[in-house]
Amino acid sequence: MLLRFFVGYLFCVGLVASLSAAEAPELASVLTTRYAPYANWQSVVDVDALAQRSESRYWHTAEEIALQRGDSDLPLAGLHIALDPGHIGGQWAAAEGRQFRIAENDFYVREGELALVVAQLARAKLVALGANVTLVREAAVRVNPKSPVDYLELAAEQISLPKEPSLSALWAYGGALRARAVHLSIVKGDLMERARLVNREIQPDALISLHINAAAWPTENESASEASESAKFRLVGTNNVHALIFGCLSDGELQTGNQLEQLAVKLTNGSGPTERLLGGALATALAEATELPAARYRRNNAILLSSQQPYLFARNLLLLRMAECPTVLLEPYISNSVGAYGRLQSALANRAADRALAEDDILLQYADAVVAGVRACYGQE
Ligand SMILES: [Zn+2]
Repeated sequence: MLLRFFVGYLFCVGLVASLSAAEAPELASVLTTRYAPYANWQSVVDVDALAQRSESRYWHTAEEIALQRGDSDLPLAGLHIALDPGHIGGQWAAAEGRQFRIAENDFYVREGELALVVAQLARAKLVALGANVTLVREAAVRVNPKSPVDYLELAAEQISLPKEPSLSALWAYGGALRARAVHLSIVKGDLMERARLVNREIQPDALISLHINAAAWPTENESASEASESAKFRLVGTNNVHALIFGCLSDGELQTGNQLEQLAVKLTNGSGPTERLLGGALATALAEATELPAARYRRNNAILLSSQQPYLFARNLLLLRMAECPTVLLEPYISNSVGAYGRLQSALANRAADRALAEDDILLQYADAVVAGVRACYGQE
């Protein structure tokens, strides 16, 4: 009862002290197994100093939320979840490299728009279970208020001037400048603005970033100069699922900008264990719903955290690193695979024609799995 009162008090004043600080050996262990398994972190991270830090946090653990929940409350009452529909879609879909179709009569597959549909479906279901849900974006528009034009100067600092005074070199320079300004605005700048919104304004208990994965297009036929567009855009056979949480910094990243400080925050604010629980629950729910195999990483840019949970990896992505609350990024399906493309087309066709959704609607399946994962992690009494 006392504990309940205490947690209630913290909820009221909106200030939550850090979880009991991690011990140095514990920090060393997670650095070796999750946060920097392929890097020489010992040369840049002082675990004794880290163990002294006490980091404040704006989010609550599943236990704290459950303590507040009454017997007659809905199963997710008291939980505030932020859903981030990955990418943007709309007029930016082509520039962000998240748009394709196989045939001219097909619907465009735009990851940003599909992720938004999934987020809206998941929100309705989570709200019905008592959760408070905030979407990081509500439409196919930039979250970052700065447009590509605002980044032209910065882009010019990063792109070297043409080496020769030819018209073709000038064209190439102009293209590179534009591409960099667009990237700075709608990719990097947008992700940074999403992280700022989450940390400063939304301040949820957890953030789930929704994506649909895609594979590199098959290249065998590309060398043939006659290769038609359709031969180039051939669907791949592989279709799989994985989920990501923060970790796996390289030596270079540990030396880059403020990544070391961001690592220190994430290591000491207690987000790590909740990320593993939520990430595991969401990965399991997606695996069960889709019955697809787990993705694999062939390089050292991600690490499988446990052979018991083959769907959950740690990876150093900007949003995973910069969002201070427990954050999980989902990558179910390979959108340009034989297994997923047709299902995406029928999901888009049914929505365009305002028809009832198919029983195996792929976006509904995704949203249901998100809800099941959230419920498994946060729904306990
Ligand atoms: Zn994506």
